[in-house]
Amino acid sequence: MKIENTNRTIYFDNAASTFLSEKVKSALVNTLDTFYGNPSSIHMMGERSKKLIEDSRLVFAKYFSVSPKQVIFTSGATESNNLAIKGYLACTDKKEIITSPIEHSSIIEVLKKLEGRGYIVHYVKVDEIGRVDLSSLDSLINSNTALVTIGVVNNEIGTIQDYVSISSICKKHNVPFHTDAAQGLGHVDIDYRYFDLVTISAHKIHGPKGVGSLVIINPKIKITAQLDGGGQENNYRSGTENVSSIYAFSVALKENKSVDYQSIKQLKLAILKGLDDKGIKYLLNGDVEHTSPFILNISLLGYDADTLVKTLSINGVYLSSASACNNNVAGYSHILMALYHSTERTKSALRISFSRFNTLEECHRFAEILFNVLGELHE
Ligand code: PMP
Repeated sequence: MKIENTNRTIYFDNAASTFLSEKVKSALVNTLDTFYGNPSSIHMMGERSKKLIEDSRLVFAKYFSVSPKQVIFTSGATESNNLAIKGYLACTDKKEIITSPIEHSSIIEVLKKLEGRGYIVHYVKVDEIGRVDLSSLDSLINSNTALVTIGVVNNEIGTIQDYVSISSICKKHNVPFHTDAAQGLGHVDIDYRYFDLVTISAHKIHGPKGVGSLVIINPKIKITAQLDGGGQENNYRSGTENVSSIYAFSVALKENKSVDYQSIKQLKLAILKGLDDKGIKYLLNGDVEHTSPFILNISLLGYDADTLVKTLSINGVYLSSASACNNNVAGYSHILMALYHSTERTKSALRISFSRFNTLEECHRFAEILFNVLGELHE
């Protein structure tokens, strides 16, 4: 069958990264030229840059209901996760960490390295859609537990954790709770008061790449800087601040406040209906009810997901086979393997991830294009 190239791009890889919104783009461009003074310089240009950062910090402080000094700007979620885990462990003698087997590689790889340095890492049990087994968590915590780190929204299948219950278990044992909320921020209603430390990243919400934050929700939590130097970011993170990007991140956050999650969920449902209508057989990884409306993950058994991703991109559709930041040597998603123990299901998994700019029309067109591509690959 001939595949028609419509030349109308469908971008469904928003969990990997989003484009800059118009407002964010203007915020970035308009300040790059005029706010080039180093925020640490004491002259007026330095002061102007410093003020832009502090005004941006206030936006985050308000959003997370914390004081501005509890907002640490970083280069993104990877750095924030490193800072949260290593920075907190440096302040305690306790040597055990609890996490889940479905965390992002910027958590898993940090913990693997720590294991080599004498730390003990426990992986809580999760159910078939990745939700933490609360009794498993409760039984793993002991007097040597330093930290619990569990992502509130999973980056591959979108599982939303019962963070209220996880938090109450952590509180009962007096253990801090860090969450990687890179896929949660602006995508799911989250009450951040239940966490002690929160990781976020700008480029998942139409902000620029290379900027993020670690928010210290609980002011009693002490962390040690992982980058030493000029003492910027209240001594938590040395290095000249990315002034324009920090400002653009604050604009992205404000803009994201009005997103209608229900309309995003309709996109997910439209794709599933489109697949059903076309008779495309798939396995749903995760479910619809307990996952982020922005992430849909399906396995098309018998097809190689990498081949599908490449063929779909030739047809103007962009999505992911596994997490784009997963450099796993075997190429398999550790997340899907942990949940389904099936290489066939994992190798054939596609992550379709939305943004508020995607449309139902794109979802209908996607089902059509996928149907044609599957037919072509089958032939
Ligand atoms: N954590 C999660 C859950 C993510 O989805 C990502 C991005 N794929 C990261 C961390 C890494 O974020 P960054 O690119 O900002 O370092």
